[in-house]
Amino acid sequence: MANEFISVDPYMRGRMNDAKSYATPYALDEVMTGGAVGRVLESRAEGLPVGAPVLHQQGWRDIAQGPATGFRLVQVVPGLPLSAYLGTLGLTGLTAYVGLLRIAGLKEGDTVFVSGAAGAVGSAVGQIARLKGASKVIGSAGSDEKVKLLTEKYGFDAAFNYKDAPVREQLAKVAPQGIDVYFDNVGGDHLEAALDAFNQGGRAALCGAISTYNATEPVPGPDNMGNMVTRSLKLQGFIVGDHAEHMTDFMTEMTGWIGERKIAMDETVIDGLDHAVEAFLELMRGANTGKMVVKL
Ligand code: NDP
Repeated sequence: MANEFISVDPYMRGRMNDAKSYATPYALDEVMTGGAVGRVLESRAEGLPVGAPVLHQQGWRDIAQGPATGFRLVQVVPGLPLSAYLGTLGLTGLTAYVGLLRIAGLKEGDTVFVSGAAGAVGSAVGQIARLKGASKVIGSAGSDEKVKLLTEKYGFDAAFNYKDAPVREQLAKVAPQGIDVYFDNVGGDHLEAALDAFNQGGRAALCGAISTYNATEPVPGPDNMGNMVTRSLKLQGFIVGDHAEHMTDFMTEMTGWIGERKIAMDETVIDGLDHAVEAFLELMRGANTGKMVVKL
């Protein structure tokens, strides 16, 4: 099949370290494997005719070939680009959905704080929280333009630029009533700030810790883990791949929300396979809003 879009994701940074993790490290001179979507060029498999849109994990290449079991047919929603199946309607959206609803156990009336909120996962988390009855949704991001998007486009009630002042101070200011749920994409100072802001019985989904991915020295840990005990908090990590059983519920709800125009989906699209490395570096620097993809 011929790829039309390839996914560019922060977890790929972890696979560049020769360390034990849930995903095997990349080998030198190996193609960057990962999510990609395109159309069938040639096929002997029933159910995958020429021209059919398919998803696969063969990653950063123009042509992908292999047994039919490695390719999943996409049920295209009219009007949506195929790249949506790498983002809001793909593993990115499922990560937001599972993390917020199953891991953090969002309840109606909760005050929710999301870090990395203008990114692919974060922007979906904030919007799902609102659709599921959170009473207040707060987001942090790394530029004033992104902060504006959070309140004006994605429906966050409050937002701040984490580069302006310490996260602890800024979060305390926008959440004087405290927070009930924290969706952590960033780790470090954001996690510390959330631990301070938590109300009794607070819950966090630990999704990622991008502020630490390029660290060359051990990073200092939160200094307030004692709050876990005194406030009966629950912090739980998760890997989206372990929660595939929620895919059907997720697709039904998300397709409905998109059809009713209740979810805004942003993408940052870089042109050309030759620019995939640049796209990855720009993602780690925060140049993307929403899902980063490369268009072939
Ligand atoms: P994003 O679209 O959010 O892109 C990454 C963003 O991280 C950048 O745009 C940048 O935004 C932000 N960032 C970079 N460096 C820092 C820093 N030092 N401090 C704070 N923010 C920073 O990527 P995804 O939505 O794909 O991923 C978000 C998180 O979710 C990542 O941590 C990723 O590893 C994790 N993840 C986990 C999964 C799981 O199964 N647990 C599955 C998928 C993703 P800004 O301009 O705001 O700084």
